[in-house]
Amino acid sequence: MSGNESRLQAIYQITNRDPIPAKPPKRLEELWATDVFTIGKMQESLPKEVFKSLKKTIQTGEKLDISVADVVAVAMKDWAISKGALYYAHVFYPLTNATAEKHDGFISVQSDGSVISEFSGKVLVQGEPDGSSFPNGGIRSTFEARGYTAWDVTSPAYVMETDNGSTLCIPTVFVSWTGEALDKKTPLLRSNAAMNKAATRVLKLLGHQNVAPVNSSCGAEQEYFLIDANFANSRPDILLAGRTLFGKASVKGQQFDDHYFGAIPERVQVFMQDVEEKLYKLGIPAKTRHNEVAPGQFEIAPFFEAANVATDHQQLLMTVLRNTAKKHGFVCLFHEKPFKGINGSGKHVNWSVGNATQGNLLDPGDTPHTNAQFLVFCGAVIRGVHKYGPLLRAVVATASNDHRLGANEAPPAIISVYLGSQLEDVFEQISRGAITGSKGKGAMNIGVDTLPVLPTDPGDRNRTSPFAFTGNRFEFRAVGSGQSVAGPLVAMNTALADSLNWIGDKLEAELGKGADLNQAIQIVLKEVMDEHGAVVFNGNGYSEEWHQLAAERGLANLKTTADALPVLKETYIENLFSELGVLSPVELASRYETYAEQYILSLEVEAKLVINMAKTMIYPAAVRYLADLGNTILSLKEIGMDLETETLEKVSALVKSMMEKVGKLSAALENHDFANSEEHMRYLAQIVRPLMDEVRDYGDSLEGEIADDLWPLPTYQEMLFIK
Ligand code: ADP
Ligand code: MG
Repeated sequence: MSGNESRLQAIYQITNRDPIPAKPPKRLEELWATDVFTIGKMQESLPKEVFKSLKKTIQTGEKLDISVADVVAVAMKDWAISKGALYYAHVFYPLTNATAEKHDGFISVQSDGSVISEFSGKVLVQGEPDGSSFPNGGIRSTFEARGYTAWDVTSPAYVMETDNGSTLCIPTVFVSWTGEALDKKTPLLRSNAAMNKAATRVLKLLGHQNVAPVNSSCGAEQEYFLIDANFANSRPDILLAGRTLFGKASVKGQQFDDHYFGAIPERVQVFMQDVEEKLYKLGIPAKTRHNEVAPGQFEIAPFFEAANVATDHQQLLMTVLRNTAKKHGFVCLFHEKPFKGINGSGKHVNWSVGNATQGNLLDPGDTPHTNAQFLVFCGAVIRGVHKYGPLLRAVVATASNDHRLGANEAPPAIISVYLGSQLEDVFEQISRGAITGSKGKGAMNIGVDTLPVLPTDPGDRNRTSPFAFTGNRFEFRAVGSGQSVAGPLVAMNTALADSLNWIGDKLEAELGKGADLNQAIQIVLKEVMDEHGAVVFNGNGYSEEWHQLAAERGLANLKTTADALPVLKETYIENLFSELGVLSPVELASRYETYAEQYILSLEVEAKLVINMAKTMIYPAAVRYLADLGNTILSLKEIGMDLETETLEKVSALVKSMMEKVGKLSAALENHDFANSEEHMRYLAQIVRPLMDEVRDYGDSLEGEIADDLWPLPTYQEMLFIK
């Protein structure tokens, strides 16, 4: 075995570790939601009237009475204390994709010096964390420094158990003193409300009298990598940037496809079971687990839930994965591209809309009139994705996701919709105006009954599309593995709301002109396809032909974050969000600034790391090797032997070139003269990133030349294959 000291140490630690034994399995009923203050627990512990009032708030979003909150607070506190919690925390979701919380004790000191535990409705409902250092894109300098958290009654409170004790966690929104959203939850709730309003209007136009509130749903498939912590800790790039900035491809990578859906390694399976037990206790319905395409890559997908709850649960799921990985000696990587040349990680966001009276509105159903309703909603999605495709691209734009989108493994940066052949055919018929005959069976028979019965799960699947219809929902596949799902859900809900309003207006106008509902629907759907059918694409999204065709169709191809984020500054996007009450222009601008800043900061950190690692790790290894080799050549010459000098020359040339590029990269980072963040982003994308890649190429070539026992960084082979 070769390898330098730190690598050998790491391998020794890993191969000699005591395996963590699998916990004896518990029954699901024993685990399920034990750490959640569920509706059931509320009902048990609250007076009837209080419970009724709270339930109404949860179901209809009606304002919560403070006297009700007081009673709920006491019940919640008693429950939390019975679970060993001494602290509570308002949990909120700042613009960083992370989860934030501020802990406060239940402790209250009395005048005689004794203490009691106390928790009032007021502190349950509202908190004031000192959140001034969260990114806010300038909102709070223009308005008011303080930020407030407010309980989101629709997402249940829970107790988070850690080795350091248990905490009652209360999901909240995070807003400025003047009500500007500083977080990701507030716009999500607003987008859902806008979508509900528009969907309700359309459902009524379609003839439904009884329409329950419409909610969006989300089921997110989470991909991640597991790397042994011993390796991660000796790689500054993984520690600080979450990905490898150097690393030569392993001779064996993923080309055998032997990892995908293969048997889960034992150590990983024990980890997964531990994760699932924690998730079940938190009421998170983990459902599938499997190996992913790359070695060391895995996936977990919970069953779908209401979008708001699913989003909170998604954040929790990432926290649980990260923390549990640590316990098992792993580091869990959510970076979209931790290893060059190996598949990256995404987060497929499955999304639909529906309600209690009409069910899933993106389910084709099996009767003609539900088909028509489905086609209206599906048509609305098609219009939304076409009109706001650049927005959908912008909400998945991060420095790390740039490595994945368009890199022949993940959907391209061009946003299109995949419908499947049968549905595409139906919409083509609509475009041609071929579906005409109403059989005239009264008002509820909203025609289109010449349509075939649509299958609920069309067998064909297209993995190359960024936005695919998958039987009864759409799957947005361009979302990055490390992202919060809130942004994508906000964009989808809002674009849909806009389209439904547009459809509502059109239907009303046609009906006003004397058309019957059947005709009106067909006219509107035809218009949708005429104007927006260009976004539908069923072919191979990875192909060169598609890139060309998409350009002809006028679809944007926003390759990098620097190209995509400025979409948020476009007037039509500003209008979309402000007209529907989802984000004010100030709130939108603050998001643009925050995300642009995050892009700039992450690229700068990476560039500095590249310089450091090249100078302090790779260069020293290379010169040591050169010294070794040079001395050997000289000594051999003395005794009359001749060793080739090719390797010496090659390594020396590589070192020289690498250091030249390092010099250029350092110089490039000295430039701080930018008119605005857009210019700065473009500079980093066009000048700095390519230089980083060039340094890396030389570094990786050196890895292929230098004696293995001098190489300081754990290799791809070691990180991906030693568990
Ligand atoms: P695949 O790997 O084939 O894409 P998975 O079974 O791994 O599919 O994940 C599908 C996800 O879609 C699950 O989280 C599932 O709960 C979710 N899903 C199913 N129906 C809906 C729906 N109506 N709305 C949102 N998500 C849904
Ligand atoms: Mg999927």
